[in-house]
Amino acid sequence: MRHVDVLIIGGGPAGISAAIWCKRLGIDCLLLEEQSQLGGQLFNIFNEIIDYPGMRTKNGIEMQREMVKHFVEMDCLYEVNTKVLFIDERSKTVKVKKQAKKQEICYTYLILATGSSQRKLGVPGEQQMIDRGEVYSASADGERLKGKTVAIIGGGDRAFEGAHLLSSKAREVYLIHRSTRFKAREQYVERVISNPGIKVMTDTEVTAIHGDRHVTSIELESKNKEYKSKNLLVDAVLIRLGVAPNVELIKGKVATAQNGLIVTDEVHQSSNPFIYAIGDACTTPLFSSISSSAGQGTIVAKHISSLLTEA
Ligand SMILES: Cc1cc2nc3c(=O)[nH]c(=O)nc-3n(C[C@H](O)[C@H](O)[C@H](O)COP(=O)(O)OP(=O)(O)OC[C@H]3O[C@@H](n4cnc5c(N)ncnc54)[C@H](O)[C@@H]3O)c2cc1C
Repeated sequence: MRHVDVLIIGGGPAGISAAIWCKRLGIDCLLLEEQSQLGGQLFNIFNEIIDYPGMRTKNGIEMQREMVKHFVEMDCLYEVNTKVLFIDERSKTVKVKKQAKKQEICYTYLILATGSSQRKLGVPGEQQMIDRGEVYSASADGERLKGKTVAIIGGGDRAFEGAHLLSSKAREVYLIHRSTRFKAREQYVERVISNPGIKVMTDTEVTAIHGDRHVTSIELESKNKEYKSKNLLVDAVLIRLGVAPNVELIKGKVATAQNGLIVTDEVHQSSNPFIYAIGDACTTPLFSSISSSAGQGTIVAKHISSLLTEA
C-alpha cells in the first residue's frame, strides 16, 4: 500500500500552502483534491481580491492561477479528480476514489484542508436549479440578470450586499429571510431597507423552487401565519445562507464544535495527534480568509516537520 508522511485532503489555499511548506521542509507529502483543478473556493470569487499581501488580483480565478503556478513550479506532489471517501484513523489509512478506481493510502500525519461549502435550502427544485447551472454571482452576473425578477434568500452580509448590487440591474429584487433579525452589518441593512427597488420579506420561508427548464417561481410560507402558502413569480434565485464546514469525513473521529468546525489547538492539531485541520474546516466564517488559510498551512507543516525531525 502506498505510504506518505503527510497526506493533505483538499487543494484550496490552505492545502496548497501546507503542501508548499512541506516541500520546502523536505517532507514526503501528497495532496488529494476531488475537483479537476486545485483552488477550492477561489473559483467562486468574482470580486477583486484586495486583501492578500503582495497579490492583488481582479478575481479568484486569477489568484488560483498564480497559486497553482507556484505550487507546480515547486514540484509538489498532487492528484486531482481524487475524492477521499473514508478515513480509518486507527490504521491511519484513507480510501480514495479516482474516477472509477478505488485505492488506499497510508499516512503518518493527515491534514484536513477540506474547506467549506455554501449552505443549501434543502427544498424541492433547488438541486435541479443548481444542476441546470442557474447559479449566479451578484457582482459578476448583473448583465445576465438585467431586467429580471430576482429572489435573494438569506439575512447575512452576502444576501444584503447581493440585493444592493442587483437592485440597479434587475427589474425587481426580493430579499427573503426566515426571521426578523438579520446577521448582516447595520450599514448593509440600512442601505437595503431604504432602497425602494428592494422588497424585504421577513418571517418567510422558501419551501420550493419551481421551473422545468429554468426557474419560474418560488413557494413561500409565512412563519407568522400571515398567509398559508403563496407563489411568487421570479426568474432567478440566489441562495445566500452562509457556509458550512466540509467535515462529514471526520465526524465522530475528532472533536468538533457545535457549529461543526473541527476543534484544533494553536498548531492546528485536532483531538487526534496524527490529524490536523486548517482553513475553513476549522475556522469560523467570521475569521476565514485566503491569507489565514495559507498561514495555518504554514504552521501545520512546520509543526509536523519538528515532529518528524524528533522521531
Ligand atoms: C464568494 C466568496 C468570496 C470570498 N472573498 C474573499 C476575499 O476577498 N478574501 C479572502 O481572503 N477570502 C475570501 N473568501 C474566503 C476564502 O475563499 C476561503 O476562506 C478560502 O478559500 C478557504 O480555503 P480552504 O483551503 O480552507 O478551503 P476551500 O477553498 O474551500 O478548499 C477546500 C478544497 O477541499 C476539497 N475537498 C473537500 N472534501 C474533499 C474530499 N473528501 N476529497 C478531496 N478533496 C476534498 C474541495 O474540493 C476544495 O477544493 C471568499 C469566499 C467566497 C465563497
